[in-house]
Amino acid sequence: MNAFMVTLLMCTAVLMIAAAAMSGFAWTQSTYQGFRWWTVALWLNTLTAVFATLDSQPAGWPWAQWLLVPWPILCLLGLRRFHSRLRLPGSAQADLGMLGALVVLAGLAGHMLAGTMPAAQWPMAAGSLALLYAAGVAWRAPADDDAKSLRALGALWLLCAMPVLLVRLWPYGETGTSMLHIGSVTLASLATTFVLLGACSRRTERALRHSRRRLRVLANIDMLTQVPNRRRFEELAGRALQADPSGSAALLLVDIDHFKQINDKLGHAAGDRALKLVSRCTLDLLRAQDVAGRHGGDEFVLLLRRSSTQEAMRVAERLVSHLQEQAQANALPRLSLSFGIVQMRAGEAIDETLQRADQALYEAKRLGRSRAVATDREDDDEKPVFRSSQRLGLTSS
Ligand code: GH3
Ligand code: MG
Repeated sequence: MNAFMVTLLMCTAVLMIAAAAMSGFAWTQSTYQGFRWWTVALWLNTLTAVFATLDSQPAGWPWAQWLLVPWPILCLLGLRRFHSRLRLPGSAQADLGMLGALVVLAGLAGHMLAGTMPAAQWPMAAGSLALLYAAGVAWRAPADDDAKSLRALGALWLLCAMPVLLVRLWPYGETGTSMLHIGSVTLASLATTFVLLGACSRRTERALRHSRRRLRVLANIDMLTQVPNRRRFEELAGRALQADPSGSAALLLVDIDHFKQINDKLGHAAGDRALKLVSRCTLDLLRAQDVAGRHGGDEFVLLLRRSSTQEAMRVAERLVSHLQEQAQANALPRLSLSFGIVQMRAGEAIDETLQRADQALYEAKRLGRSRAVATDREDDDEKPVFRSSQRLGLTSS
């Protein structure tokens, strides 16, 4: 077995491994639009190397080499689909036109010059033109994180197109020329496989990261009102309280009065709109450092950092009058709210504060609703003392 045959066998083996890696990846991992074009391109190159290995006459190689012409443009067509949101220069139609023209040119020349010295150089020249064309498109891809692999491929294919120039400088003879062609395509195919599989893996990784982020949001946010759910509120409040002086925050528990009646009279959709409105009005009034959450059902919870119950009482008043204006503008009946307001105690856990606020809210309901009831810092007894109770403008409708 001569050195050419050994080299050819090695090229065949390498191409087969690259094509098999591509197919194996498709079997086991997520693939994306365009992947099939790449797989076809790599198996076509492998088939070419097999043909060349089986053909003992180097003069027969132009036919095998002819099959090496399409691969860069097939890869480019796949890349257009893979990067469908990137505006790559040219179009798939132009790619197919160029592919057809080069394949026909190389085929005709190979046929007419079969058995003569320049026969092998025609498909090689056509193959190099295909590589230069694909490299030009890939290299001119818009600068984008996603386009890094395109740039890499552009540079790679440009390098692979170089042997045709070397042949012009140093005539190798037909066999040498064909070996140079097949060898350079083999190396470029292997490198292309790495780049393409890398691009697929990166995309999968990004998609996973995105869905993990989305899941985290879904787990933390109440989808209807777009405020943190109870668990997330407790987390955020705990974090905020650690940064503040102990006992410096006021907590408000807000409940819509006779909310069931809205559902019953106007339907669940109107009830949902009312809940959304209350949460929007709440967010409108809060400062950036405060924390809001949906406590459940028609109950919301607000943590006002570095605030007293008097300040919290004023926030409750403002919320009620803002809600009154907005309810009219949103074709909703007059909504009235009840509030339980407490000052946090030094070292108190947030769920204990919530319990005390719940008692204050219960008292506000008991006293006739549409009212804010507050307890103060000094109320250390088991049984809370409600220091202030204030009617809040509205009566329930
Ligand atoms: P009260 O003045 O005593 O608070 O009377 P209420 O009718 O508001 O009674 P309560 O707070 O117990 O009612 C809560 C109702 O909220 C019960 C439930 O059907 C309704 N609800 C809970 N979650 C949703 C929701 O996401 N959308 C709608 N439309 N209704 C909900
Ligand atoms: Mg209610």
